[in-house]
Amino acid sequence: MKPTHIEHIGIAVNSLSEAIPFYEKVLGLKCYSIEEVADQKVKTAFFKVGMTKIELLESTDPEGPIGKFIGKRGEGIHHIAFAVEDIEEKLREVEAAGVRLIDTEPRRGAEGLSIAFLHPRSTFGVLTELCEDKNRGNNQL
Ligand code: ZN
Repeated sequence: MKPTHIEHIGIAVNSLSEAIPFYEKVLGLKCYSIEEVADQKVKTAFFKVGMTKIELLESTDPEGPIGKFIGKRGEGIHHIAFAVEDIEEKLREVEAAGVRLIDTEPRRGAEGLSIAFLHPRSTFGVLTELCEDKNRGNNQL
């Protein structure tokens, strides 16, 4: 599969407004975008560290995926996302390798990326996301 880099690390937090000051004031990163992804029942805040982003995730609904995650396990690392090229083909590849998929087809994630999740039971307990920036080259973030 050969991902090009770690696109982002997703971190579940109770509150963006409580967590953002740690990333800005202590780590010295800049929050460059806050976006609600209604589909996922989350509000996200993004920071850049080199080629990798930190994606903070605050639930907007206790029954949503992040709400349930925090209810069960508390705040913490929720997923890791690998940047790939041709995500449709990569999904077929991992499926053929026997990996269980959460998303059999890519869908739209934050920042307009095409994303798909692999099941943590097939990935040694780490919820794993593949993502592809189909806008890359258009001068977008
Ligand atoms: Zn993500």
